[in-house]
Amino acid sequence: MKKEPSASPRLFLIAFYVVLFLLVGVMFVALAALPPQGQKLPYSQFKQLVRAQRVARLQISPTTIEGELLPEAPPPAPGERGTSGTQWFHTIRVEDPHLVADLEAHGIAFSGKTDSSWLFQLLPWVVPLFVFVLFWSVYGQRVGAGVGGGLMTVGKSRARVYVEHQIKTRFADVAGLDEAKAELQEVIEFLRTPEKFQRLGGKIPKGVLLVGAPGTGKTLLAKAVAGEAGVPFFSLSGSEFVELFVGVGAARVRDLFEQALQKAPCIVFIDELDALGRARGLAPSAGHEEREQTLNQLLVEMDGFDASTGVIIMAATNRPEILDPALLRAGRFDRHVALDKPDIKGREAILRVHTKNVRLAQEVDLHTIAARTPGFVGADLANVVNEAALLAVRRGREAVTMADFDDAVDRIIAGLEKKNRVINPREKAIIAHHEIGHALTAEALAPHVDPVRKVSIVPRGIGALGYTQQLPTEDRYLMTRTELEARLCVLLGGRVAEELIFGDVSTGAQDDLQKATEIARSMVTEYGMSQRLGLRTFERERRGLFLDVPQATRRDYSEAKAAEIDREVEEMLARAHHQVCELLTAQKPVLERLARLLLEKEVLEGDELRQLIRAAAPADPLQVAAAR
Ligand code: ADP
Ligand code: ZN
Repeated sequence: MKKEPSASPRLFLIAFYVVLFLLVGVMFVALAALPPQGQKLPYSQFKQLVRAQRVARLQISPTTIEGELLPEAPPPAPGERGTSGTQWFHTIRVEDPHLVADLEAHGIAFSGKTDSSWLFQLLPWVVPLFVFVLFWSVYGQRVGAGVGGGLMTVGKSRARVYVEHQIKTRFADVAGLDEAKAELQEVIEFLRTPEKFQRLGGKIPKGVLLVGAPGTGKTLLAKAVAGEAGVPFFSLSGSEFVELFVGVGAARVRDLFEQALQKAPCIVFIDELDALGRARGLAPSAGHEEREQTLNQLLVEMDGFDASTGVIIMAATNRPEILDPALLRAGRFDRHVALDKPDIKGREAILRVHTKNVRLAQEVDLHTIAARTPGFVGADLANVVNEAALLAVRRGREAVTMADFDDAVDRIIAGLEKKNRVINPREKAIIAHHEIGHALTAEALAPHVDPVRKVSIVPRGIGALGYTQQLPTEDRYLMTRTELEARLCVLLGGRVAEELIFGDVSTGAQDDLQKATEIARSMVTEYGMSQRLGLRTFERERRGLFLDVPQATRRDYSEAKAAEIDREVEEMLARAHHQVCELLTAQKPVLERLARLLLEKEVLEGDELRQLIRAAAPADPLQVAAAR
């Protein structure tokens, strides 16, 4: 979140001046409105005094009369007047039409006086105004701290529309994603020569929705389309609009389309469409009214222009299932392009794109790095390359080596190494046995699980105390029941090792157990892999269009079934636990030896591990356990 850097100090200054001004004003007014001096007399007594000629130098204002009260003795000589003995009086005026005539009749000098200073009259107007300004600036400051804009800086809100005219991104910069590129080829053709399409009357897309996990290259691809077609690229982010005032977002959208229509052919890109286009009525929260208005405006604009004008609206989301259905209707975002997470070939290609300008050592094999990074998206891989290059520089190398890449991957996987984290020896021993437990189980169950690539007890980031990394030999789209069961066993391996060696368990297995439970549950409820519950699935698949974002599922089975599912999941876990127990008990000496070695070296490579296992115990007991 970017902050408007000068907003807060400036507002503070304004508030300061307002307060200062107010204080000075109040002082003036207070001075001007000093209460009249002297004795307060009733009006009737004042009139008597007038008749007795005992008052002088009167000052008559619309509400009061002030003046000098003369002693009872005959008036002194003029020179003595006004000395310290002078007595003042004042009285409140009453309706008295004869006052002036009386004063004249008794020869008393008087003059008029306005009620009070002009400041006093201004006060009722000025004070509320100041209070308002004060409130405004203080409030604006607080808002400013929150969203980076604030009341005073609406016009400079973060919700800006960015325009780029000369996009340099090309399809060549986008690795993999061949299907998505093929689908967008038509859009490019259209943007290049809209006249041709208009002439032939072909069906032209208006809105294209790019669907994919964060970092899969949606923005990159949209930009590349603009680059390939050589058209301007307008972009805005849906999430920025949610914080705006009611009406502002809608105005922005209107503006945007006005501009875009002038610059056609062009691309309008809306990032995070889900922030804006969340189904109406879903999760009403602060700012939803604004979102609704903005969304409505977007719909109006999308319907309002003719597709043949050459404006293509592209939007990105990773949660298509929560989008308002109105957005997906024909004539709006009716084209959907899926961006999957890259497979091994895709990852290699992405690495190749990002290492184009990086000097690599001879030995660097991008395929191996790709194989180590399943589940990484384009943004992660770009990070890996960046991190590796930085490491190489820090290490004073001429070129980036494989070791740099290995470390970069480690870092990205498990967060930055915490060099100064202290672990006591017993904890370390537990972690070592835990990790070797995973590794031994994995090796024993090969080839049903991926071979171990690395076991480490170097503390990394938050949470992960150690890890056992397995190297998938290929990307998997299908898994058999045997493989899933083997995976369950590997997950439980750490916990079982702790039980076996220490006779106690630690909290370190929480994540493993959670994953194991998830797998077991899916096997029962989704994959029909439980004998007792049969082929029926129990989770209603309300998943996204292309993504595995699980949605809140509605249960469509009975309480009894639910209990049965729970029992089955528990049994499945218990079976796996039992199997791992036997397996590791048979291997206890190896387990202990390897754990000791791991404690010493902190990291064991997969090949090293396999050699040690083979050397320690001739294959037989392993195979026996695995065959079970
Ligand atoms: P998204 O919009 O889907 O969140 P981006 O398009 O912003 O993701 O991608 C972030 C960065 O990741 C890009 O700038 C690019 O460096 C890198 N990246 C992502 N996908 C790819 C890809 N297929 N090829 C090359 N680089 C990619
Ligand atoms: Zn574990």
